[in-house]
Amino acid sequence: MSDNNPVTVVESRPGALDTRVSARKARPSYVSTTNACKLCTPIGAALAFRGIEGCVPFLHGSQGCATYMRRYIISHFREPMDIASSSLGEKHAIYGGGPNLKKGILNVMGKYGAKIVGVATTCLTETIGDDVPMILKEFRREFSDLALPHIVFASTPSYSGTHMEGWHAAVRATVEQLVTDKVSENGTVNIMPGFVSPADIRYLKEIATDFGIRPTILPDISETLDGQALEDYETIPSGGTSLEAIREMSGASASIEFGRTLSCLETAGNVLKKRFDMPLYQIGMPIGLRETDRFFQALEAITGRETPQLHQMERGRLVDAYIDGHKYVSGLKAVVYGEADLVIGLTSFLVEIGIRPVLVATGSKDKVFKQAIEEVCKGIALGASLPAIREGVDFFDIAEEAEGLKPDILVGHAKGYKMAREWNIPLVRAGFPNHDRFGGQRILHLGYRGAQSLLDRIINAIIEKKQADSPIGYWYI
Ligand code: SF4
Repeated sequence: MSDNNPVTVVESRPGALDTRVSARKARPSYVSTTNACKLCTPIGAALAFRGIEGCVPFLHGSQGCATYMRRYIISHFREPMDIASSSLGEKHAIYGGGPNLKKGILNVMGKYGAKIVGVATTCLTETIGDDVPMILKEFRREFSDLALPHIVFASTPSYSGTHMEGWHAAVRATVEQLVTDKVSENGTVNIMPGFVSPADIRYLKEIATDFGIRPTILPDISETLDGQALEDYETIPSGGTSLEAIREMSGASASIEFGRTLSCLETAGNVLKKRFDMPLYQIGMPIGLRETDRFFQALEAITGRETPQLHQMERGRLVDAYIDGHKYVSGLKAVVYGEADLVIGLTSFLVEIGIRPVLVATGSKDKVFKQAIEEVCKGIALGASLPAIREGVDFFDIAEEAEGLKPDILVGHAKGYKMAREWNIPLVRAGFPNHDRFGGQRILHLGYRGAQSLLDRIINAIIEKKQADSPIGYWYI
């Protein structure tokens, strides 16, 4: 079921979600999801598969799921987005979707000439219990006379996860299923950045190049979800991590993964570490000064080189901007929401610039979310100033709790717009989805440059609000 449905689940769950009710008025005896603060699991897998060269994302489920996801993705990235589907109907819910899955893959081979098909399950196929690995095995046997594409499979039931779990599952499945042989050392570094914007990926490539690194970024959506205008429509957009580069990931000197919540997940980086004894740097999403410093320290450790002057200069300018901007933001209260790792990074950044996050919230449930928020606030937002930390919440919960906290600003994706409008406070957009603004794919979040851009946008949003509220209309602020 898509998150368009305002009420997706109504059930009696006494005692559920303890973290949501602390310090708040008593809730009714039922819990409903009202405007979810997460997206469905296979949408994350489809997005990740889109960052592999020659890959067609394929949903094993109904047409409706694929249509919802396409619509969602297109209105953020403003790029065509094909997601194939096995088009299951009522009959298949009873008899199984195997024949449609096989037929669908043959269609994708014929229509797209896909080199890889990334198959993700949906609520329906997980519920009816289709044994997809077995169906795919049969498919390979039955059509062994054809030039078959590589088929990567990720299990992504939406009722037990979020789009980020789908994303990580697709990246892990790709590595697990395609990086099977050890190749000789090739001087590359694997970077698994998580779900960041195409602009972020382009910037990561620049940083790696400046360090003299050949990076394998998996997945790489920098072109496939932010491409050029072309005379002829490409059925599969060019760009993405090549199959060859993926296979060669076993010869890299190290892997870097972004995300403080990854420590309790079996990730692609863990697979490479276990399988090939490859050093793994699992660090927070480099948003803001301190988390970016950690990323540059990891690059220094891997390459044995100092951070290039260009980036040291960017860092210096950022510190200068923090000093200049302090008077505009110091002491303001923010509510931050969205994907867990993005929220952790944004919280780290906000406390650095003097904004006090009063509520940080995510729709996912991560064992280490609370701990990670406390860690990034340590030494800056102490004791009573620590924000309220909520996981597994929807926008009903967030709005209810945030209202009493009287925030000055919201930081998150476009789904917070309704709250921002009601409370007449600025919403600074970050992450996905952003359907009500242009350029969502070009929002820069990472590194010193990303922090600079976020800082400028936040301060200008505050100034704009002051101007709009002022009866005089100050222009020299
Ligand atoms: S996979 Fe599940 S949550 Fe996602 S669109 Fe389909 S039915 Fe809805």
